[in-house]
Formats: sequence, structure tokens, C-alpha cells
Amino acid sequence: MSNQHKVKSMHTRYQLPNPAQALALATVLLVIAALASGQQGARQSSCADCPEWNKPQQPFRIYGNTYYVGPHGLSSILITSKAGHVLIDSALPESVPQVVANIRSLGFRIEDVKLIVNSHVHLDHGGGIAELQRLSGAEVAASPWSVEVLTKTGVGKADPQFGSIPPVELIPRAATLRDGQTLRVGDIKLTAHFTPGHTPGGTSWTWESCEGKRCLSFVYADSMTPVSAEGFRFSDSRDYPAAVQDFEKSFAFLRATPCDILLTPHPDASTLWQRLAGRERGVKPDPVISPNACKALAERAAEQLRRRLASEKGR
Ligand SMILES: [Zn+2]
Repeated sequence: MSNQHKVKSMHTRYQLPNPAQALALATVLLVIAALASGQQGARQSSCADCPEWNKPQQPFRIYGNTYYVGPHGLSSILITSKAGHVLIDSALPESVPQVVANIRSLGFRIEDVKLIVNSHVHLDHGGGIAELQRLSGAEVAASPWSVEVLTKTGVGKADPQFGSIPPVELIPRAATLRDGQTLRVGDIKLTAHFTPGHTPGGTSWTWESCEGKRCLSFVYADSMTPVSAEGFRFSDSRDYPAAVQDFEKSFAFLRATPCDILLTPHPDASTLWQRLAGRERGVKPDPVISPNACKALAERAAEQLRRRLASEKGR
């Protein structure tokens, strides 16, 4: 959420009942406005890692009609068709101008994005959805848990990181998806796979992109890291009792799904930059295409969870 909006909504919400309170409130608002304008100048204050994640990245074609349009440290994926486009993940609120400019520099228009979906509704992947929806008029669709967060709460109580993360800016409405549901925009067919664990609403996405007759299976695999707020336990959380089972379901999806090109919300998690550097050096076969990547990610994630659960036994 931009601080400008926070200040505006405070102005409209509060009635000024008497002069003394009005003066006190005016002082508060001035302080907030001063803070807001200071932060707006920096525009990189969403989190400690945010400036690093938000470094600019030249947008590029990954394969066929699938493009990378995010900043360097956070994926935003554009899938195009003649009848309109799909955007997966927004990155941060402060990433939005970059995402929009990247889409334009590839020759497409944000106004032609018809559908915005997400991996999980944390600020670094879903924080820009509200602004992108305003700019595009696109429909937003998400898992039931993520719809609650996006339209009502901003952050979910069962989120392992609840208490340690800021909310995402709310949007007026979002369509609710079923696990396995396929969404269509023009000739794009995008399937939602619920892959909870990192959050209870985590969603991975699959689709095909073609160059001539060669069609490849894309997997945009949600984060599968057991990251939490202080004190949260994946092994026996009262707020999220299914956490471990959920992770297992997500790993099983990753092991089984057709996967020529793996993308992840944090591009480093799928070594995208190393693979792209290989492609740019002319390495053959193209290292961006790596059919074992999904299985390898599942094994790394399963190992991380094993270690996390072992560490919780002593606590
Ligand atoms: Zn996250």
C-alpha cells in the first residue's frame, strides 16, 4: 500500500468532533504525511530485503509467449495472447512501476492484462496486485484462503509468518479458484494447483508455451520454504495444524508434474539467472529448459522441512 493511500483513507474516515481533538488529529496527520512523503521518496522501505529484491531487471522472453517482467529478485510472469494477457505475481508494491514499464518495453500493454493470479499473498509477491488491478482492470483470481487475505484481512492468522509480516493492500473482489481449475484467456490455458505449506493458500501454476510446433510445459512453483514468525511450530501449530501434510502434498505435485521450464517466485530458488547466463553464452541444450528442475526443487524443499521439523523437536 502506498502511504499516500493510507493518509487519504484516514482523512475520509475520521470525523472531527471538537477543535482540541481536531488540532491533535491534524498534528498526527501532518506527522504521518511527513513520514509518508519521506518514505515515498525512498519507495523501497517495504522490508529489509526489499531494495535488493527490487533491483531493476531487463524483461525478456523465457520461451514462446511467456516473459519475465519482474524486478531482478522477484518474479512477475507475463503470458500473452491476442485476446489479452495473464500476469502471475506482482512483486512488491514499489515494483509496480517497473513491472508496467517492462510490459511496455516488450511491446505489450498493462491495459491488456485480463487476469492476475498469484503464488502466495505475501507482500513480495502479492503486494502490487491492488495497484496492477487498478491500472489494468484485470480480474484477480486466487485460492479460497488467499481470496480472504486479498479482500478482507491483508494477512492470514494461519500464516506461519503471521505477526512478523505486513499486510497486503486489499482489493475489492477476487474470484475463488478450485484446486486443479483451468483458467482461459484467449488461447492461454492456465491451471491452478494448490501447493500449501509456505502459506495455507499457496498456489502453483502450469501452462504450455509453444515456438512453432515445439510446446513446452511451464511450472511456476510456489515457495516451499518453512519460514515462520518467532515461536511458530510447523510440527504442531494450532493455527495451521495441516502444515506438514500440506507441504507433503506440494512436494508430491512437484515430483509428478510435467516440467520443462521451472520458474519460482524468487528466481534464485530455481537458479534462473545462472540458467539464463548459460543461454546467453550459447550453451546447448538451452539450460533455461531443464526437465529435472521440479524434482530437484521438491527434494531440496523436503530436506529443508526435515531439518526444520528436527529443530522443532528440541524446542
Ligand atoms: Zn512468502
